[in-house]
Amino acid sequence: MKSITITRPDDWHLHVRDHKFISSILPDTTKRFARAIIMPNLSDPITTTALAADYRARILMAIPTGHKFEPLMTLYLTNQTNGDEIKRAKESGFIHGVKWYPAGATTNSDKGVSDIATCYGALAVMQDVGMPLLIHGEVTDIDVDIFDREEKFIERFLGKIISDFPNLKIVFEHITTEQAIKFVENSGPNVAATITAHHMLLNRNALFKGGIRPHHYCLPVLKREHHRKALVKAATSGNKKFFLGTDSAPHTEHAKETACGCAGIYTSHGGIEFYAEIFDKANALDKLEAFASFNGADFYGLQRNSDQIILTKKQTKIPPSIAFGDESCIPFRASECLEWAID
Ligand SMILES: [Zn+2]
Repeated sequence: MKSITITRPDDWHLHVRDHKFISSILPDTTKRFARAIIMPNLSDPITTTALAADYRARILMAIPTGHKFEPLMTLYLTNQTNGDEIKRAKESGFIHGVKWYPAGATTNSDKGVSDIATCYGALAVMQDVGMPLLIHGEVTDIDVDIFDREEKFIERFLGKIISDFPNLKIVFEHITTEQAIKFVENSGPNVAATITAHHMLLNRNALFKGGIRPHHYCLPVLKREHHRKALVKAATSGNKKFFLGTDSAPHTEHAKETACGCAGIYTSHGGIEFYAEIFDKANALDKLEAFASFNGADFYGLQRNSDQIILTKKQTKIPPSIAFGDESCIPFRASECLEWAID
């Protein structure tokens, strides 16, 4: 049986929701990952260091006994975020990034940034103190086709931000297109990107296979096959600018299976196994450890983890649904199989 040992990975983009929901899903993450960048887009977004401290405490309470896990908190950027708040965040020691959601881009982004120019004071301090800007890179204009939103965001915003703040650390989150890959590759060492497993496992046909598939709906939306292939190539290339971020984003079954379903795919139950499958199929298992366990820590300026996990190529069944608070959530590839297992 094929098996590999790698340094314990981290998840550089994760949604764990709040309150009763955290404890249903967090064990899937803490079983696999030592740390995760926790996204701040709760229905009341985490806009201040004080709110992040409270949220962090709720997450720590939900860590199962015997698991060691560090939530790496983030702030939600708004038109009102100022430099003092960024300084407080940096001094806290537990906040590791500030997330820019263009208003209306995805789940709970209504309070996000409507005009990035209003945030220039905050961005200047972030550049000074070395606080990374994490970007949901999609324009939200109604006239831009949903499949082109990432490409248009690069054209309209990213070049300008980088020329105005040349030393700002930027993580272009969950990239989905050849254009985003090229942009990151051609930028300086202060620009990196996370890549999800689901954007490397599925192309946009998965949204419509035999009928509408709400559990394959996420944002950024799945893209064409040539983009999917390019993502696999970038992730398995060994380039240090690309690293693991699951963007696992659970919703209740009824919030997905409805006339206007939420965006988000839950993948934490195979948070590292799905990537092992992708890297194995690409004959690049030797590149998995850097992508999953080194590149992100190095970019964020954190120590690499010291313990290890063992991954084995063996099928295990994924349940049809999982408990989520007092409701249920349909996990990615429900009732099918994980191709790799963690010991
Ligand atoms: Zn996300």
